[in-house]
Amino acid sequence: MSKILQEVLQANAEYGAEFGDKKDLSVPPARRFAILTCMDARLDPARFAGLAEGDAHVIRNAGGRASDDAIRSLVISHKLLGTNEWFVIHHSDCGMATFTDDTIRTLQSTDTAGEGPGGAGQHYFDWLAFEDEATSVVEDIERIRNHPLVPGDIPIHGHVYDVRTGRLEEVPGAAEAGAPRIR
Ligand code: ZN
Repeated sequence: MSKILQEVLQANAEYGAEFGDKKDLSVPPARRFAILTCMDARLDPARFAGLAEGDAHVIRNAGGRASDDAIRSLVISHKLLGTNEWFVIHHSDCGMATFTDDTIRTLQSTDTAGEGPGGAGQHYFDWLAFEDEATSVVEDIERIRNHPLVPGDIPIHGHVYDVRTGRLEEVPGAAEAGAPRIR
């Protein structure tokens, strides 16, 4: 058994021993909101946003980008599970700002044997790298706001989490981009 596997199972045994009332949590998030954020290990949405189990949906990917799959999760979160307020939270010092889509295409090509430069198909893949986290928050809010499957009355808030302070900073333009629209 790997050391990591051992550690995880040990931690889980301790968690399960204290599980208690959490067995009665319902599927829909009790506080009816969702957060889209980055997978960065320094970010703990439960702590920085004050969440307990059962409170909110947290959707994570590299960068916290509004990819098709993130929007799929947000729409399900709203339509089936009742969330009616969403957050897009990117962060300072994000790995996604340290490379371009072309960089990762080059890296992919060195890992992919026998399929020519870049490997088959990966040139069509959008890695969603970005240069500036405040700009990417507004872009992602706009993409969600304008998506045909997203109801216009859901407020979408945008912040940048500062990894040096643990604080959520407002993003210029995010409030305007994410304001509900009456349809
Ligand atoms: Zn990140």
